[in-house]
Amino acid sequence: DLIRQAARLYQHDAAIEFLPTAALDEESVTVSFTELSERVHQTANLLHSLDVKSTDTVTLLLPNLPETHFALWGGQAAGIVSPINPLLEPEHIVEIMNATKAKVLVSLGQDLSEEIWEKVVQVIERVPTLETLLLISKKPTNSVPVPADILVHNFGEAIARQPNDHLISGRTIQGDDISSYFHTGGTTGRPKVARLTHSNIAFIAQLNADTTSSKGRFTTLNGLPLFHIFGTVVAGIGSLLAGRTIVIMTPSGFRSPNVLPNWWHHVARYRVKGFATVPTILGVLLQIPVGDNDISCLTDIGCGASILPVGLKAAFEQKFNVTISNGYGMTESSCLLARPPTDMQAPEGSVGRRLPYMEMQIAEVDGNRLIRTCNTGEVGIVLARGPHIFSGYLSEEDNAKAWVDNTWFNTGDMGYLDGDGNLFLTGRAKDLIIRGGHNIDPALIEEPLSRHPAVAMAVAVGQPDAYAGEVPVAYVTLYPSENPPTEEQLIDYCRDQISERAAIPKRIEIIDEFPLTAVAKVFKPALRNRATEYVIGQALAD
Ligand code: ATP
Ligand code: MG
Repeated sequence: DLIRQAARLYQHDAAIEFLPTAALDEESVTVSFTELSERVHQTANLLHSLDVKSTDTVTLLLPNLPETHFALWGGQAAGIVSPINPLLEPEHIVEIMNATKAKVLVSLGQDLSEEIWEKVVQVIERVPTLETLLLISKKPTNSVPVPADILVHNFGEAIARQPNDHLISGRTIQGDDISSYFHTGGTTGRPKVARLTHSNIAFIAQLNADTTSSKGRFTTLNGLPLFHIFGTVVAGIGSLLAGRTIVIMTPSGFRSPNVLPNWWHHVARYRVKGFATVPTILGVLLQIPVGDNDISCLTDIGCGASILPVGLKAAFEQKFNVTISNGYGMTESSCLLARPPTDMQAPEGSVGRRLPYMEMQIAEVDGNRLIRTCNTGEVGIVLARGPHIFSGYLSEEDNAKAWVDNTWFNTGDMGYLDGDGNLFLTGRAKDLIIRGGHNIDPALIEEPLSRHPAVAMAVAVGQPDAYAGEVPVAYVTLYPSENPPTEEQLIDYCRDQISERAAIPKRIEIIDEFPLTAVAKVFKPALRNRATEYVIGQALAD
């Protein structure tokens, strides 16, 4: 309905501009709102003809392509879509496909991606519920070697034969029906599969269309992946609903040698007014010269997904003359939970306020029980409730830890509210460093370190310690400079800046780059391993 409505309103205007390689001045493939709606109907009808019912799963193993949007929204009109990060290891892909009982898989033919095709071959053998493979491919699919009981169709050819203006199933969708299975980022471990309803997605999409800091119609760049809720709901359907044109780039995303180096060129060429991204990407863009590209069109940037260092925010805003709104969300809240109000800047370091119609509180909890609501300024666990909150994980084991007093979702994030209701995040409960009896919030170390003018980013983790259990250590990346600080100088700086003695890092290591997850978040488990390996190395040397 949302896509149909957008097509009625915006008709032949561009909904998607796709740059296949993101090279300079490359011709883009344009998909109008009318075409988008037609392809989405055709996809839904094709899936219906393949016997996909409202509770059947259509798995997408796809990079950013116009077809990904057809499958994302057409898949939800027919059944339940399960977009999976194609960078995940085949074991994880198989695990998610079996947990969701995948019936149809939409992916790429060998001609478009060797890398993804190899994974397709590995996974289809191991998912017994799978019946059909739909391949986006420029080649015929009749000679594709797949197990005999799996049907293969060329996605583009198969949808072209379907009616494009109505749903042949006549399905009426209820708000509480499951629309999608999105997996979490896997920042703290194995990705969890979240069940989102049609109401969840529609609610967040509409809220995003109405209340982003830059209102109205404009062109936006989507460099976020289309398997993650941030790219699909906020930067995807939310933008389409508002009649915005989304520029999507190259199937290989940020790994493409063209995307980040040519970013300012694309911004200037498409007169991009705003885009949504993550802090690590802002850190890279800060170092990409604007050259003679006129980027005065760019005014608003939405950032989320991990802690945005205040120093990075300030440097970026000043250098490019833009406003960054730091929004807080997660897969389980169908994206957003808090964002700065549209008419004002959030105070420095805050991720904004709770969004309309949502409930949020900071609390002390014990397992599934709420002990008490925290006072203003007091750090506790962020709990959320409302029309955006998902209807639970697929796995009962994951669900067992997710709810407090049966109704509040435990985000696993820690933070506090100021007197005006602005939320400040301090880190994840799982990332707390426990030194002897002290609970050390990594932000106590990361925040002051990232204010150091030479430091690009700082991340603190616990390092195993025979006496204290854990001690805090910090990993930092530096801006290029002729006279970079030493690790010892950075520790001295921490001694000056951090009043809580236990939080002063035992060790600081300067590294070239951080280990990142597929959605460009710092993967703290890898840094904890690195710290553990350091300790083992020291022990062996002794
Ligand atoms: P997993 O749950 O598998 O460990 P994940 O939590 O990273 O992975 P997502 O749902 O993609 O998976 O990310 C949501 C989380 O990202 C939030 O719970 C929060 O910890 C973090 N986050 C999101 N936005 C912000 C922000 N603006 N500032 C700080 N952290 C943020
Ligand atoms: Mg999470």
